[in-house]
Amino acid sequence: MKQIHAIIAVLLLTAAVIPAQAADLKVFACEPEWAALTKLLAGDHADINTATTAHQDPHHIQARPSLIARMRGADLAVCTGAGLEIGWLPMLQRQSGNPAVQNGKPGLFDAAMQVERLEVPEVSDRAMGDIHPEGNPHVQMDPRRIATIATVLTARLKQIDPAHAADYDARGADFGNRWQTAITRWDEMAKPLLGVRVVVHHKSWAYLFDWLGIEEAGQLEPKPGVPPSAGHLAELKAELTARPAKMVIYAAYQDNRAVDWLSKEAGIPAVELPFTVGGTAGANDLFGLYDDTLKRMLGALHADH
Ligand SMILES: [Zn+2]
Repeated sequence: MKQIHAIIAVLLLTAAVIPAQAADLKVFACEPEWAALTKLLAGDHADINTATTAHQDPHHIQARPSLIARMRGADLAVCTGAGLEIGWLPMLQRQSGNPAVQNGKPGLFDAAMQVERLEVPEVSDRAMGDIHPEGNPHVQMDPRRIATIATVLTARLKQIDPAHAADYDARGADFGNRWQTAITRWDEMAKPLLGVRVVVHHKSWAYLFDWLGIEEAGQLEPKPGVPPSAGHLAELKAELTARPAKMVIYAAYQDNRAVDWLSKEAGIPAVELPFTVGGTAGANDLFGLYDDTLKRMLGALHADH
């Protein structure tokens, strides 16, 4: 009996201690890559909720009540920005009524706005089906840009949670070192991909190609966000006959019917890539995202020879 009392006492004590040890910062991550980066930079100081998975198109998400509720309690929302979430994030911000995560507040972190963006249109062209109104938002596929984003995100974490500033500095420095080592390794590993022509489904890979010097040979979508049409695919096939490509790549969430068609017609491998953390079994964290992407592309390149 004495023992049971002792156990109960320990349990009560533990229960009383847990709230004090709970994470100080509630983070709403729009996409898995930003959840993964925040986890690396904040560790146990952040309690992170991820709004989407690798198997969803981040351009098109339903602003469900459960997401609104999570946004309501957030101290910090870490999103891509640059218009990627324009169809759902503004509604979450509005409906949540959370003043901390509104535009221009420190509680809203737009990752893509912290780096130089590619494909910024001179005139916004949304009526024509362009879903990249502020340039290409898919910045997570360039690790050099991730390094910049990590530095700015560390500063933001310190601003919102100053009590742990020293810890964020230490974690940021540790991540920066490990990330730089990984980039050196990836640069070496990816050398055979330099100058290789690759067809894409959506313009999801502009930053990967910018980093590695891969040439975009064409897109299955006639315009970003517009589904492949028979006419456009026929044109693309003709172009590839004149100037062949080595592979066609697509994200785990994308419909692969047009990919399979082109792969067969052009006689090139179709390669599914993770695009974000969780997109493939190998992409189980931010490092794995790049390891697996390169492994899969190099595998397709070698299979082709
Ligand atoms: Zn896009």
